[in-house]
Amino acid sequence: MISFYPGPSKVYAQIPRYVKEAHDAGILSMNHRSDEFIMICERTVVLMKEKLEIPADYTVFFASSATECWEIIAQSFVSKRSYHIFNGAFGQKWHEYTHKLKGGARDYPFGREEKLHPPQYNFGSGDGVICITQNETSNGTQVSNELIRQVKEKNPSHVVAVDATSSMGGIKLDFTAADIWFASVQKCFGLPAGLAIMICSPQAINKAVEMGENDHYNSAVFMNEMMKKWQTTYTPNVMAIYLLMRTLERVKPIEEVERKIIKRYEQWRDFLKDQKRFHHLIRNEEVHSHTVIPVHDTPERITAVKIAAKEKGFLLGEGYGDLKKDTFRIANFPAHKKSEIQQLRKFLTKQD
Ligand SMILES: *Cc1c(COP(=O)(O)O)cnc(C)c1O
Repeated sequence: MISFYPGPSKVYAQIPRYVKEAHDAGILSMNHRSDEFIMICERTVVLMKEKLEIPADYTVFFASSATECWEIIAQSFVSKRSYHIFNGAFGQKWHEYTHKLKGGARDYPFGREEKLHPPQYNFGSGDGVICITQNETSNGTQVSNELIRQVKEKNPSHVVAVDATSSMGGIKLDFTAADIWFASVQKCFGLPAGLAIMICSPQAINKAVEMGENDHYNSAVFMNEMMKKWQTTYTPNVMAIYLLMRTLERVKPIEEVERKIIKRYEQWRDFLKDQKRFHHLIRNEEVHSHTVIPVHDTPERITAVKIAAKEKGFLLGEGYGDLKKDTFRIANFPAHKKSEIQQLRKFLTKQD
């Protein structure tokens, strides 16, 4: 079965070899306070900064999931207000989770056919957290680096936090445009679930230190103190960090990866234009995600194609939330092979 689910998705073909290697080298039983772990942790962060072009003065943290990152941000970076600009189910959930924890979360929904419009968002001179979902996995739309930068430039005293869970590692993110970026590894990193990455600017770290919230095992202040020694606050998923390190050693620089992803996205876009009944859920191509392709059709045909696909060995992504019945989603992640994509298109052509 080839998984085109937009997370968890197909893992890199090298993963079984790396797992065996990890076992044979004693990494699966490694103590997380040992010098050996510290070396793996440091090397993973160094490789991540190099391959993804993360600024040297940003700090990289490990957590367990993107959902946990929502909570860490609410607890350690939101003093009172958070402003959630979103157009889909993941951004909405982030708003809900934050509101439950802190009570001061405001929502600014926009249409999924619309481009985020920075002039609309002027939050004054406070110290809130502005939350943007860069790639909305539920509906296959994205917000450009440039628009994120404009929101930050209009609100320089606020911390801008970006959920890039289903795009980091697949497209080039401009980390200088915002303060907190996070993702989990079961999407564009081509790894099994159970690890997340959170990347913080100096402004974000200063905000956390000023707030001084230190009530949780993953409070940002504590995480920051530990990361200075390449350590985590708890026993982390050492195997996942090792797999990430080995994967990062192999992957191409992000610009090269992005070129491939955009080319493949364009092929999917053009393919869907040629179909009689399947079409891209989003008409406005300017907001199309490059990594998640949502396909629209009638509920009956969507159900039928998902079943037929499974019989042929392809796992398609279910529609998400209120799009469950009349869409399926296709992941366009770096771990997918050209030949696999061609096979899937051949199958879909016959279904159309
Ligand atoms: C998958 C996803 C999440 C949740 O990730 P977990 O690792 O399951 O917590 C959050 N936000 C977006 C945009 C996602 O695609």
